[in-house]
Amino acid sequence: MLIIRCSKCRKKIFKYKKIGKGRILRCWHHRIIESYAIRDGSRIYCRCGNRIGEDDGVKVKMNQRSITASGTYMNK
Ligand SMILES: [Zn+2]
Repeated sequence: MLIIRCSKCRKKIFKYKKIGKGRILRCWHHRIIESYAIRDGSRIYCRCGNRIGEDDGVKVKMNQRSITASGTYMNK
């Protein structure tokens, strides 16, 4: 399980099941275990107001500069 946090305030954004290593370019809805994010239409924000990404209905395209991640990655 990966904890994705806001790079500004360090609050949690998502608990996420990431398959394989590598950057988190997008978060698929079906792998988001828990969300602490705020939504405004298709835009995803942290509770501090930091813009996290854009939701297209299936996945959230993540703003790389807005997030940090820690935890474990899953093997395929
Ligand atoms: Zn924040």
